[in-house]
Amino acid sequence: QLYLDRIATHNEALNAFVHLDADHVLAQAQASDAYRAKHAPRPLEGLPIAVKDIFCTQDGPTRCCSNILDGFNAPYDAHVITRLKEAGAVLVGKTNMDEFAMGSSTETSAFGVCRNPWDVSRIPGGSSGGSASAVAAALTPAALGTDTGGSIRQPAALCGITGLKPTYGRVSRRGIIAFASSLDQAGPMTRSVRDAAMVTAAMSGHDSGDATSVSDAPELDWLAACDKTDMKGLRIGKPKEYFVDGMDAGVRASVEAALKQCEALGAEIVDISLPHTEYAVATYYVIAPSEASANLSRYDGVRFGRRCDEPEDLLDMYTRSRDEGFGSEVKRRILTGAFALSSGYYDAYYLKAQQVRTLIQQDFLQAFEQVDVIATPTSPVTAFAVGEKTDDPLTMYLADIFTLALNLAGLPGLSQPCGMVDGLPVGLQWIAPAWREDVLLGAASAYE
Ligand code: GLN
Repeated sequence: QLYLDRIATHNEALNAFVHLDADHVLAQAQASDAYRAKHAPRPLEGLPIAVKDIFCTQDGPTRCCSNILDGFNAPYDAHVITRLKEAGAVLVGKTNMDEFAMGSSTETSAFGVCRNPWDVSRIPGGSSGGSASAVAAALTPAALGTDTGGSIRQPAALCGITGLKPTYGRVSRRGIIAFASSLDQAGPMTRSVRDAAMVTAAMSGHDSGDATSVSDAPELDWLAACDKTDMKGLRIGKPKEYFVDGMDAGVRASVEAALKQCEALGAEIVDISLPHTEYAVATYYVIAPSEASANLSRYDGVRFGRRCDEPEDLLDMYTRSRDEGFGSEVKRRILTGAFALSSGYYDAYYLKAQQVRTLIQQDFLQAFEQVDVIATPTSPVTAFAVGEKTDDPLTMYLADIFTLALNLAGLPGLSQPCGMVDGLPVGLQWIAPAWREDVLLGAASAYE
């Protein structure tokens, strides 16, 4: 009830929630109370969790904040939603996002712009901006996001909260509306590192219904990883490619101050190089739209959601349903991706991008021969003004310059707050080897 009251007071200004059924939320909370009266509490007993509108949930609409999914009700819960329910969580509703998770500002949503609670004239980051805004404003203690190129970590940084993107394959993607299948991964957005660990522990695990969910992923002691209070013996890599001219001077100073504090906690800071970093944005913006163009071909006006009125014939139904249903950023991605995959261009673009992806992966593997963990800024800038980048997609694409390389490599990453510049939060990003979320959580807990 406390959180529902806060949502009722603040959601109008923030537009963080797009679907919410208060009676249904309270009914779940009462069911949790009833369970607790008879049994030992489950790991997330009674904990309210909001979820991005990209997760299929049986109770209520799932729209991916797109008009093309108008009228769609998912026939089943995403695997992670089932796991959260089994852990005793109370689902608080669906949060705002960029349409189909394509964006860095939560401005392309069919439900309108979402706002940053630190300054409502600014964006919360994206694409999981609604989840970040809701957690930062304490409309919910925790939320889920998805991260294809930074969509958990960048909004977490811009809203001053913690966000964790697990290793690719740790969390099932079944029932999460696909954007770029080889990059997408779901994770928590919370107010502390320990909360992020608790939620990840509950949501992760093998799912035979997702071929990319890994069956022999190393088990971690998620909560014990958060007991670290110092960094003795920890070798932290500081990649020179992530501290560059053109980034905000205040962001750079905050992250460098954070690294000094890590040294005081016993860490050794090691200068490293990830030489193919400069190709990450270009590589991502070939691979992600290519996969998106294939994934989004299923929205044909027949199987899901919206169909145009009075189609003349089948082709007219397909083209008009898609034209009316998709926003302009989604259309831009479909066109770019279909172009990159088309015969004659495939080798020059998609295949080449996959080769560069391997080089980017190798950069990280080599770096982790020298260091245990890598620290960088999460975003080169703090939260920008609503409308500032909407006319220039290329500048918007640069918002993820520090986050998307690790998605290309499948690695886990965590963003946590590390200071303020002009009243706006700055994020510190940790990157660990695959399956070593415990290293991320340990470093972040000691720093926190
Ligand atoms: N901003 C990036 C994009 O637009 C990443 C989005 C995401 O991680 N879902 O593709």
